Amino acid sequence: MHEEGWLAVLITNQSGIARGLLDEPTLARVHDRLEQCLAEGGARLDGIFYCPHHPEVGQAPYRRECTCRKPAPGLLLQAQQELDIDLGRSWMVGDAPRDIEAGRQAGVRGLLVETGKGRAALEGMTAAEREALPHAADVLEAVRWILASS
Ligand SMILES: [Zn+2]
Repeated sequence: MHEEGWLAVLITNQSGIARGLLDEPTLARVHDRLEQCLAEGGARLDGIFYCPHHPEVGQAPYRRECTCRKPAPGLLLQAQQELDIDLGRSWMVGDAPRDIEAGRQAGVRGLLVETGKGRAALEGMTAAEREALPHAADVLEAVRWILASS
């Protein structure tokens, strides 16, 4: 993606923080490890944006309604501001309908991957919905498809 001038940005709900399952320093270590694994494969992320909140579970300050928890588009808009992203030329790749919806609300086209929760999400759609939503077996196939069709 980088060779062709694209950015790669991670947008992730991490309500485990609100739920008390992990704290922000621990999440930072998870992200460090992820970036280390990517680097070993010659890849990198241009940014990681996460929502630590949950509207109904956990303690303040994490328990609250926010504009960054997908399907809200807040993290995409934050990434757009910080990294000067052209949202109209971007793709939101995710394994859940809320990922696609967050993209839609930010004016970003969506592509569902069949890994993670993606297979079940596709099976829950009507044939017309499946037809209308680009989907790919995994992230690598998604990237190849985006590069080939852009
Ligand atoms: Zn949030």
